[in-house]
Amino acid sequence: MAKVKFFGEESIPLEMHKVRIVQKLNLPPVERRLEAITEAGNNTFLLRNADVFMDMLTDSGVNAMSDQQLAAMMIADDSYAGSATYTRLESKLNEIFGMPFFLPAHQGRACENILAQVLVSPGSVVPMNYHFTTTKAHITLNGGTVEELVADAGLEVVSVHPFKGNMDVAKLRDVIGLHGVDKIAFVRMEAGTNLIGGQPFSVQNLADIRRVCDESGLMLVMDASLLADNLHFIKEREEACKDLSIREITRRMADLCDVIYFSARKLGCARGGGMCIRSEELYRRMRGLVPLYEGFLTYGGMSVREMEALTVGLEETMDEEVINQGPQFIGFMVDELVKRGIPVITPAGGLGCHINAMQFVDHIPQAQYPAGALASALYIAGGIRGMERGTLSEQREPDGSELFANMELVRLAMPRRVFTLSQVKYAVDRLEWLYANRRLIGGLVFTEEPEILRFFYGRLAPVSDWQNELVAQFRKDFGDSL
Ligand SMILES: *Cc1c(COP(=O)(O)O)cnc(C)c1O
Repeated sequence: MAKVKFFGEESIPLEMHKVRIVQKLNLPPVERRLEAITEAGNNTFLLRNADVFMDMLTDSGVNAMSDQQLAAMMIADDSYAGSATYTRLESKLNEIFGMPFFLPAHQGRACENILAQVLVSPGSVVPMNYHFTTTKAHITLNGGTVEELVADAGLEVVSVHPFKGNMDVAKLRDVIGLHGVDKIAFVRMEAGTNLIGGQPFSVQNLADIRRVCDESGLMLVMDASLLADNLHFIKEREEACKDLSIREITRRMADLCDVIYFSARKLGCARGGGMCIRSEELYRRMRGLVPLYEGFLTYGGMSVREMEALTVGLEETMDEEVINQGPQFIGFMVDELVKRGIPVITPAGGLGCHINAMQFVDHIPQAQYPAGALASALYIAGGIRGMERGTLSEQREPDGSELFANMELVRLAMPRRVFTLSQVKYAVDRLEWLYANRRLIGGLVFTEEPEILRFFYGRLAPVSDWQNELVAQFRKDFGDSL
């Protein structure tokens, strides 16, 4: 894709694959969309797929698989213990990351559970570039706290910084000094930093963090769930890595880490997860929890078919032409939105396109969840399901007060190799309409608020009649069109 130039003026991302299996989609009329989002309590997690046209909720477990992955699933070796499938997966991970020990888990958060149970205790501090929802939940559940040390550029919505996921090295030194080495459970670097817009860190930054860890005898843990996107950006943007292969860059990163864990729902385009571990002592401490929470050590809650698909998917991740498709589609969508003046995080990151709701609906106070309201409005406008990534996705403070998020984003994930360019253009069109009518959008209020991870299944209602007004405007502008 990157290597193909167009003769004409238009330069669009070109797919380096062809579609061989398709799934029919349904686009219900706007009145039904209003009904559906009301039934879902204005929470896009609670919509039913049958009501969704473009599912941009997540890139988790919904990436298109390759013919080679599907073929590999047929030779999976079904056995509780000692499966040849497991051996193939373990060797592939060992080949790619060069770490001697591996523990399988059913998905990324399961790795976080085990890591936190073993390494975090009451009073522990975990410095990281930025938190992920499930990561933070597991750390706090075990009595620890999270210190977010992303460099200031990471939180600037509009930027040309190539590595907004970088950690601020000086801040790390300060935090270690402040709490003392003994309190620090480990240092965590998240590749393709999810909640700030799928933004990468550089190999140089990882090396700098490693140096600080070495000075203090701290462990460096990488969350590699979104490593594929991060690798693509390093290859594109980091001068020192320009001539390295994706495999070489991966190894260079892995060599700097003590533990690499991942969600295989993203990395490797399958479903599952696991932890690659350098120290035998740590491996032994963590191992006991795998049979307890996940399954026996040679499957860890994954089906053997998924493990085969993952093994192939990991190998395919080492192919530049495979991992660049997602980021390039996202880059296209972000460019189109910027051209239309729609506020979006720049530069384009991996995993999806992130609409800046703080600006899009700047008339909605943070206490009325602007990003949640925009996600609900976008579903009404186009049957497009995005995800709130703002205050709603935070947990309340221990005293019950709201913790206002740094950013109010609607994430429109781009599942890898799933959508066509015309579908992406449709999403841009509906966003353009919504932006022209943004003053119609109002806030949301909780009607049912769970205590933990409330964004997954909490229910909300509009603060006024704004949703009916939005539907009326849609009918006025689009006639009887879907
Ligand atoms: C998705 C994700 C996780 C959690 O993985 P699951 O498989 O969904 O449990 C952890 N960290 C990051 C950065 C992620 O994107």
